[in-house]
Amino acid sequence: MLAYTYIERGKFELTEKPKPELQGAQDAIVRVTLASICTSDLHIKHGSVPRAVPGITVGHEMVGIVEQVGDGVTAVKPGDRVTVNVETFCGECYFCRHGYVNNCTDEHGGWALGCRIDGGQAAYVRVPYANQGLNRIPDSVSDEQALFVGDILATGYWAARISEIKEEDTVLIIGAGPTGVCTLLCAMLKRPKRLIVCEKSEERRRFVSEHYPDVLLTTPEDCEDFVRRNSDHGGADVVIEVAGAEDTFALAWKMARPNAIVTVVALYDKPQVLPLPDMYGKNLTFKTGGVDGCDCEEILRLIAEGRIDTTPLITHRYPLSDIEAAYRLFENREDGVIKVAIEM
Ligand SMILES: [Zn+2]
Ligand SMILES: [Zn+2]
Repeated sequence: MLAYTYIERGKFELTEKPKPELQGAQDAIVRVTLASICTSDLHIKHGSVPRAVPGITVGHEMVGIVEQVGDGVTAVKPGDRVTVNVETFCGECYFCRHGYVNNCTDEHGGWALGCRIDGGQAAYVRVPYANQGLNRIPDSVSDEQALFVGDILATGYWAARISEIKEEDTVLIIGAGPTGVCTLLCAMLKRPKRLIVCEKSEERRRFVSEHYPDVLLTTPEDCEDFVRRNSDHGGADVVIEVAGAEDTFALAWKMARPNAIVTVVALYDKPQVLPLPDMYGKNLTFKTGGVDGCDCEEILRLIAEGRIDTTPLITHRYPLSDIEAAYRLFENREDGVIKVAIEM
């Protein structure tokens, strides 16, 4: 089968590989029907994910049909349409039992697919701990509707959940890239009084205003003034930082009102400064980290009910045979691209 493979730093290539086989009782083999390219794939390509193993098939955001399962897999069966979770987790350790699946202590736990083991930009993928890693897609939900459930939508849902958004809140989301928009959609479910999105790209601001006209929009330059004018207590009640740019961490805590929650989802290239003397007395609560992707079933239910729709994010579609062109477009942010769907 064809598999898009991490050859070495700076180089991915479509290569021929044998179809994966079951290796353990908890494994499933999934025939991938639709995959996507994530910014984290680019991080691997650029060498900023040291644990990524050369030779692996990349891709960790996909949906497909279960082809084969090991003896220990009870949650899904061959023929089921499923979403694949970016995180591998055992479901049994202390962290898994508490819903902190990102910190699963199993040796195979964490971001394995498309990083440490073969991922899903290929015709087939082996999914370990399939009882936790796969979720059945309701019949009324299409592959495109479900495509982001296991990664960026799980992240947006988790970010909105831990941010403790209330109906009287002004919520500021920094960054309107794919994960930022997913976060916005999930924050909307909490019905806060105001949602403000701060985004530097005009193209992305236009996307938000076209699809979500009730959302207030600002730029990093105008953000401070804008948030002050459009909030009730001198700043946002909740700030969710999804941008991960040079100055966006500082922007996040500065835009927060005293006693606000600041949730940091962004992944930074460099260490960030937490200037405690400057924020003394502001009494902020910071929540940080990587997604605990254990709400996929609930997310699929919300999609089936029509309460979350991420299909507008899919701006381009390519066949696997043309994945090089898809990466070129995504990497260079050409033609207004937000997300690319790769059809198998
Ligand atoms: Zn990703
Ligand atoms: Zn675990």
